[in-house]
Amino acid sequence: THFGFSTVPLAEKQGLVDDVFHKVAGRYDLMNDLMSAGLHRLWKDNLVNLLDPPRRRPFRHLDVAGGTGDVAFRIARAGGADTHVTVLDINASMLEVGRTRGEAQGLGGQLSFVEANAEELPFETGSFDGYTIAFGIRNVPRIDKALEEAYRVLRRGGRFLCLEFSAVDVPGLDRIYDLYSLNLIPPIGRMVTGDAEPYRYLVESIRKFPRPADFAAMIARAGFSQVSHRSLSGNIVAIHSGWKL
Ligand code: SAM
Repeated sequence: THFGFSTVPLAEKQGLVDDVFHKVAGRYDLMNDLMSAGLHRLWKDNLVNLLDPPRRRPFRHLDVAGGTGDVAFRIARAGGADTHVTVLDINASMLEVGRTRGEAQGLGGQLSFVEANAEELPFETGSFDGYTIAFGIRNVPRIDKALEEAYRVLRRGGRFLCLEFSAVDVPGLDRIYDLYSLNLIPPIGRMVTGDAEPYRYLVESIRKFPRPADFAAMIARAGFSQVSHRSLSGNIVAIHSGWKL
């Protein structure tokens, strides 16, 4: 059976997304490595290089839809002891995996974990120096609300960075990517987690996400300045950047 997520009313989308991540939380990191052949690590490294947290000054960072902490750990390590990263996610199961991993990596003191919705951040205006969201905004039902909240919680001079799947447009690679994502990702998902459905949703949500230029326009509409984007790996993913000036 096919979920048919595209016909799901906005109000119900979040519940379906939550079910997906509760189900896969324990095997999420393994799945990431399998499905991207390890590439997600390079993409996340790229994101953190762009952010370039200062090494000897305090830096308050918010990683939204932070899941099991991959991006947060990289930022905490790159910045060092004066960098504090708040990992925010709507899903307690994902955060629990993140907390355990963070402590195992000796980063516990630099991290805090908050269960909340990207559309309604429980922080005061101007609380953070940086905001990242990696493979998360696609799951948020009201992207415009999430972007407005990102803008609000950043201080003036703060930076927004978003890593997300994009639209492959390299001739040849686009066909391989389609074949791979439509025919291989759901079966791999079933092999590892026992359920292909979440991975059909994954592929569908990638296909429905706005094109890079359209997404850039949405970021600018939320108030951000100097909005730009770069594509990685033949545009499999893109990083969007904006500043609150
Ligand atoms: N950023 C992590 C990474 O790159 O490995 C996790 C990405 S995972 C594909 C997407 C995450 O978005 C899940 O942990 C999910 O719970 C979270 N999420 C979905 N909707 C959300 C919302 N409205 N607010 C906050 N987090 C949300």
